[in-house]
Formats: sequence, C-alpha cells, structure tokens
Amino acid sequence: MLQIENLHYQYADGANLSFPDWCLDRGENCLLLGESGSGKSTLLHLLAGLLTPQRGTITVADQQLNTLQGRQLDRFRGRHIGLVYQRLHLVPALSVEQNLELARYLAGLPQHPSHVARVLEPLGIMEKRRRRPAELSQGEAQRVAIARALINEPAVVLADEPTSALDDRNCGRVAELLIQQCAQHNASLIVATHDRRLTDRFHRQQRLEMTA
Ligand code: ADP
Ligand code: MG
Repeated sequence: MLQIENLHYQYADGANLSFPDWCLDRGENCLLLGESGSGKSTLLHLLAGLLTPQRGTITVADQQLNTLQGRQLDRFRGRHIGLVYQRLHLVPALSVEQNLELARYLAGLPQHPSHVARVLEPLGIMEKRRRRPAELSQGEAQRVAIARALINEPAVVLADEPTSALDDRNCGRVAELLIQQCAQHNASLIVATHDRRLTDRFHRQQRLEMTA
C-alpha cells in the first residue's frame, strides 16, 4: 500500500510543487501522467525517499518515510521499493546475475540462486545471466532492469519514463512486462510518463498539473 497526503516539495532555487492526495493498494498499477516539468520525476524521487518533502507524509508498506533517515532509509528503499529508470544504471563490469545479486546485497538480503531464476525466467532472459550489460540488446537490458527492480520482492515498483526511448513494439512489451511481473509479485506499480501510447493499459491514472 502506498499513500501520500498533503505533499509539497520546493527545490532550493525554484520550482514549488504540490501533489494531489493519493492512495494505491498493493498489487494495483497506476500511470502518472503530466507534461514535462509537472513534477513526475520529483514525485517518484519523493516516493523512493531520495528527496525529503518540506510538508506532507508518504506511507509505503505501512511505514511513514519521514520517520526514517540515513542507513535505515537506504535499507528500507532497497528492501521495499524497486526502481526502473529510462537510463538503466546497470553496473557494466558485472554480469546480469551479479547485478541482481548486488541489489540483494545492498538491501542486506540473503543470496540464493533461486532468487535470480525467479525474476529472470518469466522475463525470458535466464540464458543471458552470465552476460555483461554491454553484451545485451537494449530490450534485454531493459528486462534486466525490470528483474533488478523485482528481485527484492518490493511492495512498490516506481518506473520513470521506462518506454520513452523505445519503438512502439518494445514500448508495448515493456509496459506489459512491468504490469504482468508486478501483478505476479503482488507489487504496486507506478509508471511516470508523458508517453501517450501507454494510457489504456493501467488500472488507474493520476495526472499532475503544471503549477505556476
Ligand atoms: P517531470 O518529470 O514531470 O518532467 P520534474 O519532476 O523533473 O518534472 O520537474 C518538476 C519541476 O522541478 C520543473 O520545473 C523542474 O525544472 C524542476 N526541477 C527538477 N529537478 C530540479 C533540480 N534538481 N533543481 C531545481 N529544480 C528542479
Ligand atoms: Mg521526468
């Protein structure tokens, strides 16, 4: 479950953003829409605890984020929140498998080969597990990023413009994989995008308006 109330964020040198109150159940998915500059990425950073709001509360998996700090917050994020960015941020020197193991390690979770198999198999990339990111196609690398977001069995997956760089066919596939995999792992999914190709695939939509 994810909930935001009375949420505001102001950047030191500019934009003052307020966000509508909002609640998403476990397993639900939602598209976060809005023009470029409306605050979608900022909201995802707030939800991930990467930015701290000046006002308001965020609750993820029964935990109020503003009660956590430093290492506790990092561990909570690693354990409960999966992140997918447009740029994938895979570690180039590590294999697919090692990239996934790293995500578990950073969250302080135990390792077992079955964890890697559980996320790679449904995404159809199990046979690529010993490859490095540079040896994958863009679509395969995108699937590894989705696998990495899911490996810690997070309560919430946050994806920022995951499809903007993709052609129509791959855009549909990535959206379908995110939706399907989050449903299978009972994670809530929020996809921030200005990509109109995605609008009819999600349970819900939330639109952010530009603030003057
Ligand atoms: P979106 O993802 O919807 O395009 P953003 O959340 O990136 O929107 O940006 C929302 C507003 O915050 C914009 O006006 C943008 O210029 C501003 N902004 C984003 N990042 C920063 C930053 N690091 N410092 C100052 N202002 C920022
Ligand atoms: Mg953005």
